[in-house]
Amino acid sequence: MAIIDGLGRKLNYLRVSVTDRCNLRCRYCMPFGGVAPIEHKEILSFEEILRVVSIMADLGVNKVRLTGGEPLVRKGIATLAKRIKEIRGIEILGLTTNGVLLGDMAKELSDSGVDAINISIDTTDEMRYKNLTLFDMYNEVRRGLLAALENSFNSVKVNCVLSPFSIPDDWIHVAAFAKDNAIDVRFIEWMPMAGEEMIEQNIIYRMDTVKGVLGKEFGEMTPCSNEENVAACAKMFSVHGFIGRLGFIPAMSSPFCKSCNRLRLTSTGDLRLCLFYDKGLALKSLLRGGASDEYIAKQILKTVEGKPAGHIGHRVNFGENSDTEAISSICGMSQVGG
Ligand code: SAM
Ligand code: SF4
Repeated sequence: MAIIDGLGRKLNYLRVSVTDRCNLRCRYCMPFGGVAPIEHKEILSFEEILRVVSIMADLGVNKVRLTGGEPLVRKGIATLAKRIKEIRGIEILGLTTNGVLLGDMAKELSDSGVDAINISIDTTDEMRYKNLTLFDMYNEVRRGLLAALENSFNSVKVNCVLSPFSIPDDWIHVAAFAKDNAIDVRFIEWMPMAGEEMIEQNIIYRMDTVKGVLGKEFGEMTPCSNEENVAACAKMFSVHGFIGRLGFIPAMSSPFCKSCNRLRLTSTGDLRLCLFYDKGLALKSLLRGGASDEYIAKQILKTVEGKPAGHIGHRVNFGENSDTEAISSICGMSQVGG
């Protein structure tokens, strides 16, 4: 069984946002005052999430990633992870976190069957971290990263977003995590969404600029072969003297839409076909309205036919002299689940 969209793409990867809440306020992700929290009753329960994953696993999804908001602020997340991993057909379970709570939770998550952990770290400078996230938590995050490395995850990755707030020193220092550790550090082109504080800024860093800076600092970057490029969305490079690798997710300059294998489940139970596409399937009313698994499965298969070929959203132009045009969604990253 496989979930195939209208363009023949096989969709085997479900990203599940377990909460809209977060213990940070990254300025490129959320508006300054945060977003109004969604009422608890509107958020899918664990049983509802498990039911959706199980239906989708029967249809052919074999990879799930838990995200948010911040997934580690949701009580019982390790139990959810364990139960997802027990679902027949789910082979790989990942989790994306800001790392603040990871120091105390890494072992539990690893014991619960989480295979792959991605930690978001945009700067190694304590003051800059506080300025960017509005919380003085850099040392907690460092502790979280170390705890992740001490546990037996199959992969530990660091994500660094190239937001308008970012500077070359950040890229160099974050990249250095991959020098002495078996970590893939990936630089993600910032995707303007709705409502972030930085949307007015006209500095948009692209992969080529950042790769140039890192190449100058660390020496030649050799592209990894396709087999090594495990994550199809990332372009990975090895660097002489590095244990880990460096990579780029050129989400804006060279989106990977043609080979996209993703679906998203928002914390309020919408199945989304793309980060930048607001149409999807409102699963919550089906789950709570007595629909059978078979009916829900049919609706999912029908909905995915409409997965767009590429990003659809508001176009944002960054100034008269800028050749940079970005696409913005009407819903923020922390809401749809990054
Ligand atoms: N709170 C968790 C975290 O920060 O890792 C998980 C949710 S967060 C929305 C998932 C990922 O999306 C993080 O790596 C974050 O840096 C990234 N992100 C957030 N807003 C973004 C944006 N506008 N463009 C690109 N990446 C973004
Ligand atoms: Fe929270 Fe993650 Fe968004 Fe930062 S990027 S505000 S940690 S959801």
